[in-house]
Formats: sequence, C-alpha cells, structure tokens
Amino acid sequence: ETHNRKFFVGGNWKMNGSTDSISDLVNSFNQGVMSQSVEVVIGAPYVYIPLLASTLRKDIAISAQNCFTKASGAYTGEISADMLKDVGATWVILGHSERRSIFKESDFFIAEKTKYALSVGLKVIFCCGESLEERESNNTMNVVERQLEALIATISPADYENVVIAYEPVWAIGTGKVASPEQAQEVHAHIRTFIKERVSSDVAQNIRIIYGGSVNEKNSNVTATQTDVDGFLVGGASLKPSFFEIVNV
Ligand code: PGA
Repeated sequence: ETHNRKFFVGGNWKMNGSTDSISDLVNSFNQGVMSQSVEVVIGAPYVYIPLLASTLRKDIAISAQNCFTKASGAYTGEISADMLKDVGATWVILGHSERRSIFKESDFFIAEKTKYALSVGLKVIFCCGESLEERESNNTMNVVERQLEALIATISPADYENVVIAYEPVWAIGTGKVASPEQAQEVHAHIRTFIKERVSSDVAQNIRIIYGGSVNEKNSNVTATQTDVDGFLVGGASLKPSFFEIVNV
C-alpha cells in the first residue's frame, strides 16, 4: 500500500533546561547534519519557546508540551494555543501520560485541547499508551482505543492531516525499559487498523504513528524499520547532542 508518511522525530524536553543549557544544545543541533527525509520537532518548556524561535535552525520546528482551549481570558496560569503560535511554536504535544496522570487530564479534555489547537493552526502530537498494570491485565488495546475514541469523536477526518499519534507505553517512559520492536509494531498496527475502521482508510494510511518510551541512539535502529512505526518521541535522549543520531537513524 502506498503512503506518504515522512519519518518524524520529536524531542520532548519536559520540564528541563535553562537558558545556558538550551543555548548549548541549540548550538550543537544547529551544526548537526540532518537528513531532509525526516521531520524534526522540539518540544520545549513554554518559557524557552521564544529563545528557540530566535536561535534554532529553521528546519527544526518548535512544539509546546501543553496548551489551553481558549484564546484568552480569566484562566490564571494557562497558556493558549493562540499564544504559542504567536511566539513561534507550530506544534503542541497533548495527552502526554504525565499530563494524564499527574494533572488528571481526561480523555475528553485532551480531545478538546486537540480540537482547539488544530483550529488555530497548530499541529498536534497526540499521546496515548497503557500503564504496566493495564498491559499485564491484557488491556493495552482497550486503553489505547478508549484514548483515541475521545479524539475521533471530537475532531473531523480532515484534521488528521495535522496530527501525529505518539504511542507511549507508560511503563517505558523514563524507565530505560524500551518496548521491543515487536511490541511497538503490534500496537501501532492495531492503532492503524482502528483508525481505518473508525475514521477512514485514507487517514489510516497517511497518519504517522510514532513510538515513545526510553528511545535512545542505541535502540532506535530496529524499531525504526517496523512497518507501522513512523518515527519517535524522545524524552531524556533529546536533551543531548546525540539526539541527532536518532534523527538520522
Ligand atoms: P523518555 O520519555 O524518552 O525519557 O522515556 C519519552 C516521553 O515521555 O515522551
């Protein structure tokens, strides 16, 4: 089957970095040789987005790691998707497991955020994935389907052009326990089939499904070759110059 899925590597810096450390990393990335057949996006803490916008090479896009669903108003402490666009972000990561678990974000809220972010012209890295307990009780597919179901009920088929799905098993995030290439492929294929059934075969064929959870420059090669793995979302290993080895995997 033909598809048009450009390999995608996202970095998720989470709540890490300082003006000094980020400036050093940007210098390193700016000197790196990057294949033009990969799309690269860096997810930075809100406050460093303007720094990236003014210093990072233009062939790497900038992402936020969250946003809110209104343009402006009395929402103390929130940042709107509109503001992110205004300061130079073109992507936002939504539904990360840390947002779901620590900040109790619901499937519905994440879907609403996705809809709003897309409406202002941001692209979305939509995260899903099961906990260890859910995997061990054979509920991986149920959980991922439930998380996607909220999205499917909320956005329109045309919106998927601007969405990348990140499958990130919670047990693999920040643990050093990367999913095996076969485990990743199994869930990615399931997600693609689910989208085919619930949205359309065209969307299923063209949407990128990326893997996240303890990806590094040593374990990315084999997973990258799996049929339904279209890239990675990289946490810890995106904070080092060697991130470029994953970009060029
Ligand atoms: P990790 O994080 O690569 O440090 O496991 C991935 C993520 O949470 O996006």
